[in-house]
Amino acid sequence: MSPPAADRVRRLVESLEGVLGKRWVFHRDEERLAYSYDASLARARPDVVCLPGSTAEVAAAVRAAVREGLPFVARGAGTGIAGGSVPVAGGLVIGLARLNRILEIDLADRYAVVEPGVVNLTLDQALGQQGYCYRPDPSSQKVCTLGGNVANNSGGPHCLAYGVTANHILGVEVVLPDGSVTELGARHVDPLGYDLTGVFVGSEGTMGIATKVVCRIARSAEGVRTMLASYARMEDAAASVSAIIAAGIVPAALEMMDGPIIRAVEEFIGAGYPVDAAAVLLIEVEGLGEGLDGAVRSIESICKARGARQVRVADSEAERQRLWAGRKGALGAVARLKPRYYLHDGVVPRTRLLSVLQAIADAAARHRLTIVNVFHAGDGNLHPLILFDPADADETHRVHVAGEEIMRACVASGGTLSGEHGIGLEKNDMMDWVYSPEDLEAMQRVRSAFDPEGLANPQKVFPARRGCAELRADGHGGRPAGEMWI
Ligand SMILES: Cc1cc2nc3c(=O)[nH]c(=O)nc-3n(C[C@H](O)[C@H](O)[C@H](O)COP(=O)(O)OP(=O)(O)OC[C@H]3O[C@@H](n4cnc5c(N)ncnc54)[C@H](O)[C@@H]3O)c2cc1C
Repeated sequence: MSPPAADRVRRLVESLEGVLGKRWVFHRDEERLAYSYDASLARARPDVVCLPGSTAEVAAAVRAAVREGLPFVARGAGTGIAGGSVPVAGGLVIGLARLNRILEIDLADRYAVVEPGVVNLTLDQALGQQGYCYRPDPSSQKVCTLGGNVANNSGGPHCLAYGVTANHILGVEVVLPDGSVTELGARHVDPLGYDLTGVFVGSEGTMGIATKVVCRIARSAEGVRTMLASYARMEDAAASVSAIIAAGIVPAALEMMDGPIIRAVEEFIGAGYPVDAAAVLLIEVEGLGEGLDGAVRSIESICKARGARQVRVADSEAERQRLWAGRKGALGAVARLKPRYYLHDGVVPRTRLLSVLQAIADAAARHRLTIVNVFHAGDGNLHPLILFDPADADETHRVHVAGEEIMRACVASGGTLSGEHGIGLEKNDMMDWVYSPEDLEAMQRVRSAFDPEGLANPQKVFPARRGCAELRADGHGGRPAGEMWI
């Protein structure tokens, strides 16, 4: 680090320690290392990390970074798969883990106010005790935070019927990139004026830091049925997905797993999946008790007509939970196959699932890689997991090449770059595959209205050459690629 940059970092540490106390400010090498990665393949160390305990402390931390001209990056649980919380330009990581209180639950008006570090499942469980729920359920929900969900506009298996995070956020308190605090939206539906809550949700930390979130809550469904349909051929499972939706049925969840994932899950979790199947569909319907049996029968006959070998309906809550544990533990289970995975969440039209799955299999063969699939089939939201060993440089290179080819296949099919994981660093250079320079310029102007200095999570979302942060020429500019990517 050049001397002027080192001076600025030292002054930042002093300011932060003055406001937060030394206990919550970290700058030793091993501490910076711990905040240098998320669940993507990107890596970059921050200069300083702090863990504020209130909105006022978040605002003070932002002001301290901006005063020194240093970038700042919000961090929830670091489960992001697009590199969003990786501080690629150095500067300050502001961890929200201490802001983890559920502040208010109002069942009559159907909202909850939470701090951003509240874990998704913690809110859902608190509501569940009272017969209510928070709908968006990322598979990472045991760990990921509502602040991260808001920033990434996260989805989950049940977002097929209920929509993604943007459909469930009524308002946010935000520390803007100049350190001021504002409220967007409200505690109730607030349709007047510009939908600034809608602009903020999905902004990936580039428009400020959410310090409170007002979540829409819902009654838990009266009844639920969960089915597992197994297939000898992947194409039959894909055909069933399109046929179920075409029949006018919108299940609460419609997930697909291929043979290698099924076997890895079985070894790891023992969810009761058939290990000789080429694919399974995990299908859930919920609603009023009476209508559910009819929906189950319709889905069963559609699946069987498309070649399902068996359609099993969970006959107890314990069995249902086991089926879901398999799906939600699938990404962890693949660690049994290879040390790492690389994952893009491209979206394709449902009717193109099969052809894009074939393109993925072709990429695997061409690059001598193992790719397994577990995904939100009902939304056409693919999750090909390219398995590899990061110690093998040649294999790692082939992984990146195959990843790009898969994303090109998704876009060529009429799809897009991400269904729920966000753009972050992993896909920012692909943005101009789907947006014109004019589109990107317009989005950049919106971002700059919130963050004219470009210090809020710089170099994310927009293609690198457009990154709006004017990073200083003293060591806080882009880092060498070799250091940044596995
Ligand atoms: C095993 C596994 C399964 C997953 N399954 C799903 C899934 O089903 N659906 C899905 O959508 N995603 C899924 N994800 C991705 C990830 O969990 C989500 O993107 C999640 O919302 C990230 O939350 P986080 O708290 O970990 O955020 P982080 O990774 O810490 O941050 C994510 C982004 O949010 C920003 N950010 C964090 N907090 C704030 C805040 N308070 N204000 C402003 N910006 C903030 C960060 O700067 C970063 O850009 C999965 C990840 C894993 C590892």
